[in-house]
Amino acid sequence: MVNFKELGLVNTREMFKKAVDGGYAIPAFNFNNLEQLQAIITASSETKSPVILQVSKGARNYANQTLLRYLAEGAVQYAKELGCEHPEIVLHLDHGDTFELCKSCVDMGFSSVMIDGSSLPYEENIALTKKVVEYAHQYDVTVEAELGVLAGVEDDVVAEESHYTKPEEVIDFSQRSGCDSLAISIGTSHGAYKFKPEQCTRDPKTGRLVPPPLAFNVLHEIEKKLPGFPIVLHGSSSVPQEYVDIINKFGGNLPNAVGIPEEQLREASKSAVCKINIDSDSRLAYTAGVRETLAQHPDYFDPRQYGKVARNYMIDLYKHKIVDVLGSDNKLA
Ligand SMILES: [Zn+2]
Repeated sequence: MVNFKELGLVNTREMFKKAVDGGYAIPAFNFNNLEQLQAIITASSETKSPVILQVSKGARNYANQTLLRYLAEGAVQYAKELGCEHPEIVLHLDHGDTFELCKSCVDMGFSSVMIDGSSLPYEENIALTKKVVEYAHQYDVTVEAELGVLAGVEDDVVAEESHYTKPEEVIDFSQRSGCDSLAISIGTSHGAYKFKPEQCTRDPKTGRLVPPPLAFNVLHEIEKKLPGFPIVLHGSSSVPQEYVDIINKFGGNLPNAVGIPEEQLREASKSAVCKINIDSDSRLAYTAGVRETLAQHPDYFDPRQYGKVARNYMIDLYKHKIVDVLGSDNKLA
């Protein structure tokens, strides 16, 4: 058993309070490997941004939970090495689906966990969330819960249809579950195909798909019910066309990939939304770098040759998100 404080990590409590008060959002970037982690820490350190490192159940299976934990511990030291005197780094479990998984992460040094009971009946979601909160809070680990259902595919999490969070439920849910933050559903979606073409309109100038707007009315109602309470948006990649184009140009096939427009995420960041989850965009930047490099240099076989390009694409992407979309830059002491 190790507590996150021994690893130099922080929980989300103070971080979220400052973000809500300051009208910005903390980036929550998923990672599975070394290059992604290097890129996240480089971008957040150079921009002086707090950051949430997210590990999904699938990432734990892919990379091994012990390795991931030590990578996160190393990330704190790496941030210091990069000149960040007081890094604020959270290690967070994304979409925990059982009490046992959440407990195991708390015991392994995670500073924050999500228990996703959103597919359960309302009362069962409260009961499961409460059980995780009671355990996690003994170790000062913060807990994210979810109410409402997002569409899309993320690791094992698959939902055909979305159901917006019901604002009339949020007070009761947050009070009885004791959660520290709440992921809501207002039209964001997991994956790189967030909307079917028939749900979108087409931009007459570029011919590109324009997704339906987020339900800001639902967000604002929730904010009124729970003033200052930290709200989380999942499935908030923008699916930048530049990376999709590179992938498709160099042998990939991602037709009609579509994400959430950045203007809408920028607007959400100014509200009680204080954590925005971004995963697919990093995968796209990574894959674009690898495909482009290998297509242009058929003789390359050293993973560092294409890993470096992929890493640089991700660094640019993360910095752009921090500075131009979420506004979390220059927030560290
Ligand atoms: Zn999610």
